Amino acid sequence: MTVKEQEEVVKPTNFIHQQIDKDLEEGKNEGRVHTRFPPEPNGYLHIGHAKSICLNFGTAEKYNGLYNLRFDDTNPSKEETEYVDSIKEDVRWLGFDWGDREYFASDYFGKLYEFALKLIREGKAYVDDQPAEVISEQKGTPTRPGTESPFRNRTAEENLELFLAMKNGDFKDGEKVLRAKIDMASPNMHMRDPIIYRIMHTPHHRTGTEWCIYPMYDFAHGQSDYWEGITHSICTLEFEVHRPLYDWFVEQLKDTDYRPRQIEFARLNLSYTVMSKRKLLELVKDNHVNGWDDPRMPTISGLRRRGYTPDSIRNFAERIGVTKTDGMIDVALLEHSVREDLNKSAQRVMGVLNPLKVVITNYPEGQSEELEAVNNPEDESMGKRMVPFSRELYIERDDFMENPPRKFFRLGVGREVRLRYAYFVTCNEVVKDENGEIIELRCTYDPASKGGKSPDGRKVKGTLHWVSAPHAVKSEVRLYDRLFSDENPQAHKDVDFKEFMNPDSLQSLTDCYIEPFVKTANALDHFQFERLGYFNVDPDTNGDTIVFNRTVSLKDSWSKAKKK
Ligand code: ATP
Ligand code: MG
Repeated sequence: MTVKEQEEVVKPTNFIHQQIDKDLEEGKNEGRVHTRFPPEPNGYLHIGHAKSICLNFGTAEKYNGLYNLRFDDTNPSKEETEYVDSIKEDVRWLGFDWGDREYFASDYFGKLYEFALKLIREGKAYVDDQPAEVISEQKGTPTRPGTESPFRNRTAEENLELFLAMKNGDFKDGEKVLRAKIDMASPNMHMRDPIIYRIMHTPHHRTGTEWCIYPMYDFAHGQSDYWEGITHSICTLEFEVHRPLYDWFVEQLKDTDYRPRQIEFARLNLSYTVMSKRKLLELVKDNHVNGWDDPRMPTISGLRRRGYTPDSIRNFAERIGVTKTDGMIDVALLEHSVREDLNKSAQRVMGVLNPLKVVITNYPEGQSEELEAVNNPEDESMGKRMVPFSRELYIERDDFMENPPRKFFRLGVGREVRLRYAYFVTCNEVVKDENGEIIELRCTYDPASKGGKSPDGRKVKGTLHWVSAPHAVKSEVRLYDRLFSDENPQAHKDVDFKEFMNPDSLQSLTDCYIEPFVKTANALDHFQFERLGYFNVDPDTNGDTIVFNRTVSLKDSWSKAKKK
């Protein structure tokens, strides 16, 4: 499917907004719209999370509502402060400001504990002594009811005593759990006496050693929504089957009529990409990539370093819309979004990635001049700049052919081309080294063609980019390709997803020359290298060599664009 076709197929019809419109019409929640984004701080955010953030926070913005950032930090064994910090940085970078509405599930550990006590007192929760495997065996199957635990009918007094002992650290990990007492025969497996507290003698990144029992996600999520006054709790489809349990817990809180409403949408899957945090963590930990922000990673920090803009990601999220069925989005659509955004905003410069030296034999030695160049043809307000020209230049190696076919419109011996913004030049001679490799072209220029304008109506077919050798900034340019060569690397049953990693996903060119304009560039500045693509300055740039990352290649080269 082409990008255009795909765009048409997935045109946003936002059923979530339709639902909210209906709720507002019915006067629910006193007309309030309040959403949240609930990341678990066990990894860096990825483009799938960006979709969720844009949906949750974008929806609140659309309805002039509020949005909370809430860390779901109920599992201390995998969560770290580094992840909390990176998540905040990434959400802020996407352009969302949650103000002082920053919460942690761990803020509610005390309240959740009190709530568990209430359930025990009401005969709706019990301590089970059985090991996890036995509990799981007794769960039954979707078509066969579960088996009741022999501990299910303990008295409230006994349960209170045991739960207190769990909290006080009298038991080892896994020795006891607290379960909700709901229905072991429910057709919904999640309602079959789910575990709501487990023992973990693991320090927590925020509460330290205060707790050795931790609530399960299902026991924390809905209640946190409730306590924060969330009206629409938007999450991915896998939580649909948890919804009855979400509603059951909130129902037990029972102090008002207000109920947060869970609404599910299909998670984002991208072709040639793995998205699960567990898999991304594996890539990082085992050094298959250079950290969470490796520009090949689908993480927000990786995309940022690669040169993606917040707008390009938000536009992408808007474009793919929300659906109720899982599908796969072509990664080309994401690339299209950044190309479209950078086309409007990126400063143009000329840079040569695979240099071939050109000597203009009729240009005086030691002389140079400045030629005017357009900063962005899409945006006149970005103005013009001066580009130095001199006797020694670099052009792209593959813009020259010794024995060019007829349709090759670039440079060959005896052929004339335009150097963008500069002059018409004709190649007269090829200089080779002792191995027969071309090391230099000797050309003449037509002084009457200044600015690249034809002096007499004669036409040239090709326009090449170039840099002046003595003025150019030597740089390293990193070219990225997809990290996986398979469209759906995690879909192969017996083969590990890493088997499908693309061995050529990173190519580093260390002998590149960019026009002097980039000398003062800052980390993450965006450029279009004319004819080549969009590039940005890597934050790791230090010393004299600027490192550029290729964000995305250009769809069309000038030669094609010129023909129109
Ligand atoms: P992963 O499956 O990548 O490990 P997760 O769901 O465990 O992600 P959380 O930190 O719990 O990660 O996710 C926070 C929110 O982001 C959740 O509401 C989740 O539904 C949503 N989310 C996660 N992955 C995607 C995705 N690919 N597309 C859309 N939303 C997502
Ligand atoms: Mg999760």
